[in-house]
Amino acid sequence: MSFEVLGLAPKILQAVQEAGYTEPTPIQTAAIPPIIAGHDLIGIAQTGTGKTAAFTLPMLTKLAAAQAATGPNRRTRVLILAPTRELVVQIEENIRAYAKHLPLTIATVFGGVGEQPQIRALRSATDIVVACPGRLLDLLGRRNGDFSSLQFLVLDEADRMLDMGFLPSIRQIVRQLPKQRQTLMFSATLSKEIEGLTHEFQHSPKIVQIGRRSNPAETVTQLVYEVPKHLKTALLVHLMKEPAMDMVLVFSRMKHAADRLARQLEQAGIRTATLHSNRSQNQRLRALQDFKAGTVRVLVATDIAARGIDVDGISHVVNYDFPMHVEDYIHRIGRTGRANQIGDAISFVTNEDHGELRALERFIGRGLVRKKAEGFNYTAAAPPYNPAEEERRHPRHQQPRGQRPPRNEQREQRGPQNFPRPSAGPRPPQSGRPQFGSRPQAGRPQSGGGQRPQPTRGEVNGNREGGNERHFPSTAPRSGGFRRHFGAR
Ligand code: AMP
Repeated sequence: MSFEVLGLAPKILQAVQEAGYTEPTPIQTAAIPPIIAGHDLIGIAQTGTGKTAAFTLPMLTKLAAAQAATGPNRRTRVLILAPTRELVVQIEENIRAYAKHLPLTIATVFGGVGEQPQIRALRSATDIVVACPGRLLDLLGRRNGDFSSLQFLVLDEADRMLDMGFLPSIRQIVRQLPKQRQTLMFSATLSKEIEGLTHEFQHSPKIVQIGRRSNPAETVTQLVYEVPKHLKTALLVHLMKEPAMDMVLVFSRMKHAADRLARQLEQAGIRTATLHSNRSQNQRLRALQDFKAGTVRVLVATDIAARGIDVDGISHVVNYDFPMHVEDYIHRIGRTGRANQIGDAISFVTNEDHGELRALERFIGRGLVRKKAEGFNYTAAAPPYNPAEEERRHPRHQQPRGQRPPRNEQREQRGPQNFPRPSAGPRPPQSGRPQFGSRPQAGRPQSGGGQRPQPTRGEVNGNREGGNERHFPSTAPRSGGFRRHFGAR
């Protein structure tokens, strides 16, 4: 199948060719024709499948056709909402490449950076706006931007936007959009919450599902290294002796642990950068640039910060900390093996992680290959206690007792499940996210037990992923069976 048969405008075909794409990916083949035909669409596809082009190319085709018919239209016509700044920046980069032969303007809107350029872009009716919901709502609330002529709304990574509690912000934004529009929604999962969103925001959407969500990219080799907890860093340093590990994305569950690991790797002579939500926007962009440019060999990231990272050529993804959700595992390993490149996904599994590993293997329907690192001493003793390192690891000891943050604030904040439950009653059903095992893990902070106060509506919470984005607990509606509403396709 070639791009030519999909009905794309010639200038877009030219840009696609210049991007080096020879044939459309399955999600592109399936999604582009119905979008050009004017349908709402829900695309269930993992990241790395080419879904950004799947929604961007047909929208650009339609914008180009409208421009040719009526001349330039100085109103914002496309709004793309995405959960993280990184994803927003990446979508923008992709659109700029695909729209390079079209006279269209593009702007990004997200928290953690100055708002004046964003306000100017919104006021000058930029054609395409790519935004995180929190900052956009903030600016719209101050009468910046006019979406009255909007033709396309895209909700990218809708499942993660729900997880991050963005639904109320999205609802408020959508209320300001024309009812007559095309709404495209992409999600890695098809949960009840996502189904609820389709009822709320779409009209008779076409459904496009590429592969089962539980199928990680075929091009990724998945390996498990069983290792005592205290030897994880030593094992990583040992594996990094392999020259093929030249572009390695390492996942850490906690922000402070990511920083510590990066320091240890640097001490071992391995150039490393970190990416997590305690870092400023500039630091995060710099870390990504250094990683892409090869200035650093390793990028240590937390799950939410790494969401949507689109870096070509990642040779290895290392689950230094085993993920708590199958969905995180799929997303993590989807960072390598992108667009049919080959990649390895390595998971460190300690005694505490065996339950989660078994749950993952059940979920993906097969066992993962266990590997032993040659020449590595698996029986080495724990490193001696180092009070200086301990102090660096737990700076809270230096603070007066009354001013210390609760311990589990150190953990990467993961959305509404981090807030205390309103009562001691039975736990309300969580989102449809499959979760590894339900037993509490010794030595691991549990979500939901923190002392964090419930944020009030509109509170700006700079500690959570998304920086200065606003966050709200998810209140996704529930509704009946997916098949009942849409039928199976
Ligand atoms: P996405 O799923 O949108 O994050 O895309 C993943 C990667 O695939 C990006 O680096 C795109 O540039 C690349 N890509 C998208 N479509 C194609 C295609 N048809 N052929 C080759 N690479 C593609």
